[in-house]
Amino acid sequence: MSEHEQQAKQRIQQLQKLLTRYNREYYELDEPSVPDSEYDALFRELQQLERDHPDLASANSPTQKVGSKPLDKFDTVAHEVPMLSLDNAFDEDEFEAFTLRVNERLDSSNNITYCCEPKLDGLAVSILYENGKLVRAATRGDGYRGENITENVKTIRNVPLELSSEAPQRLEVRGEVFMPTAAFEAFNEQARKREQKVFANPRNAAAGSLRQLDSRVTAKRPLHFYAYSLGVIDEQAEQALPNSHYQRLQQLARWGLPINDEVKTAASVAECEAFYNDIFARRDELRYEIDGIVYKVDAIALQQDLGFVARAPRWAIARKFPAQEQLTTITGVDFQV
Ligand code: NAD
Repeated sequence: MSEHEQQAKQRIQQLQKLLTRYNREYYELDEPSVPDSEYDALFRELQQLERDHPDLASANSPTQKVGSKPLDKFDTVAHEVPMLSLDNAFDEDEFEAFTLRVNERLDSSNNITYCCEPKLDGLAVSILYENGKLVRAATRGDGYRGENITENVKTIRNVPLELSSEAPQRLEVRGEVFMPTAAFEAFNEQARKREQKVFANPRNAAAGSLRQLDSRVTAKRPLHFYAYSLGVIDEQAEQALPNSHYQRLQQLARWGLPINDEVKTAASVAECEAFYNDIFARRDELRYEIDGIVYKVDAIALQQDLGFVARAPRWAIARKFPAQEQLTTITGVDFQV
């Protein structure tokens, strides 16, 4: 092994170890010790090194994995369809490169329609309805197995316990649980007064509040939910659904599920950019925190053609906003009751 390769190997091992630690702090303990921007930069460095030295890459690397394994204190739920992450674009050029890759893979020079969605800074959950009733809810976990948090999700006020009578017999919805900004600030203010643990950001507040063993604790936390995709659904109902992600979201709303009314379609890259600029300009007026925009190829048939790579779909990307976050100092006692 050359000296250059030896150095690369060392750095790869160092980064894998560091990112594994940060993942544990973020996903398992809800207590990140570094800002997301720092994590993202290290993640990218590791991705690049692994691309440059494929023989040194491993399936165990954080770049190949989603989230973190479920906590032992919860029962686990196996996801029939994996819950993946999203690739990131950090500027306009990276977003355009993504759209070019999409066109190239689809062998198309036509404009592709994208569904544009604010990227809510919360926690992904899967909610299963059977015969219209909420029967199970789970976190994403490592993408394949999540934590069973059914009782906790049932306490979220805008999550319907029952859907309209037209809903399919079996329907899994996926979406984000988040804590609106004003509620997060009020919550931390109270915690500070009581010298209890404050949360680093609304994302960690949502995750910490949802992953409680006692659902009465969750019930007291001001959480909110927006559905953003479908998981499993019975075959007959699936065939009757439109071939458009955006239209499917509207269908979820008709069945009684809350969706974000900022979601729109864009028929060109320029329209995608306009959506980004509009939301970015109004970011502080939104009542929840977002850390970017998610773009999804709108046609379901094209999504299926594009498929997935290790940890993310090829048909979607998260265009992240420039970093603005800072870590709130974490004090004293753990907040869990
Ligand atoms: P992600 O947050 O980059 O993107 C995927 C997630 O976006 C989904 O799981 C879903 O929860 C969410 N999402 C929000 N709105 C959505 C929408 N409209 N449609 C689809 N998904 C939507 O992915 P991730 O894998 O959860 O996390 C990786 C990111 O987490 C990193 O880029 C980093 O910023 C942060 N992180 C930070 C630390 C740290 O120590 N600070 C550690 C680990 C991860």
